[in-house]
Amino acid sequence: MDMLRRDFLIGATALAAASRAVAQGRSGPLGYAIVGLGSYGLDRIIPEFRNCRHSRLAAVVSGDPAKARRVAAEHGLGERAIYSYADFDRIRDNPDVDIVYVCLPNAMHAEYTIRAARAGKHVMCEKPMATSVAEAEAMIAACKRAGRKLMIGYRVHFEPTNLEAMRLARSGVAGRIRYVRSEHGFVQRDPSKWRLKKALSGGGSLMDMGIYSLQAARYMTGEEPIAVTARESTDRRDPRFAEVEDIIDWTLEFPSGAVASCQSMYSANQNHILLMGDKGRIELEPATRYSDNRMWTGADGREQAVVVPPGAAATQFAGQLDHLADCIATGREPIVSGEEGLRDMRIIEAIYRSAREGRTIRLTPGSRA
Ligand code: NAD
Repeated sequence: MDMLRRDFLIGATALAAASRAVAQGRSGPLGYAIVGLGSYGLDRIIPEFRNCRHSRLAAVVSGDPAKARRVAAEHGLGERAIYSYADFDRIRDNPDVDIVYVCLPNAMHAEYTIRAARAGKHVMCEKPMATSVAEAEAMIAACKRAGRKLMIGYRVHFEPTNLEAMRLARSGVAGRIRYVRSEHGFVQRDPSKWRLKKALSGGGSLMDMGIYSLQAARYMTGEEPIAVTARESTDRRDPRFAEVEDIIDWTLEFPSGAVASCQSMYSANQNHILLMGDKGRIELEPATRYSDNRMWTGADGREQAVVVPPGAAATQFAGQLDHLADCIATGREPIVSGEEGLRDMRIIEAIYRSAREGRTIRLTPGSRA
């Protein structure tokens, strides 16, 4: 059976299951299946359902049956809500699951997004969306074919300090934007971690933390870059960095003439965004943490702290989870869709290529670098 026809039949089965759920009168919050009970899925996302209004935990997917049973029991879920990676596709028959949230190592994002879409589920996928442009395109195509939404876990778009920074940048408080600087990193200590294995991570600090610097450059300027120049500095004798980069610097040129200077690293802790305009600055430090981000704005040494009121959602995580549920209910596209993740993947591929080839890479928005 060809793939399109098989996807159609699988999608039709899942649609029938969803219709049965509606016919049975199930309403209220949409159900999420969390795939991967690691530090982000288990410790950060699952506890957030208590802060959600439109989302609830409906299933867990794990390679560790004892852990899965413990987590399910803690959240009042029965045996039917537990899946292994091998039997994950059975999720298509579970009408309690509307959305699959992929919290796995980066190289597994494409496979589980595509399997979830084929099972007729909407998908939230962690950042980086994938390890290549080709994977990201396949993920978008699979969700489109299944008629399902795809959102990337760019939580910062639901974080009040960053939202206010974007608003201030657009309001012209710093004047005409000339320059953005952003560095993100943390110290990787354990060489055995999947983040340091290229086959599972797709790359080093750029894939993990650099994507925050890249996103910041794009959302603070509100522009798409037209050129990138990158340079990698990694001590390859360090056993942590045998396969992936430690420090990488890249410069983005924007159509307005603004420039962004970005950096990521796995050998220092840094979390910072600075925007300079011809009238002043907007600065965030820490900028993109889970909580307690801080911001200043002003000029000429007279910068003042900006007190940002809490957002509509209890936390950025709850805001992100409820946003996708709300988009599904109302038929809107998520503000950080698969296409947004793909834009970053195109730039990331160009950053690596520029560092490898030692030259500036021109970018055409919407096309492969
Ligand atoms: P982790 O190592 O803590 O968890 C990974 C999970 O995947 C574990 O449950 C592990 O058992 C499972 N897994 C399945 N197959 C595996 C394999 N072959 N090798 C290793 N693990 C395997 O990682 P994490 O920190 O939870 O990261 C998961 C994803 O979440 C990554 O894509 C990461 O970039 C993303 N993340 C996002 C944020 C954010 O703020 N948005 C923060 C942390 C992590």
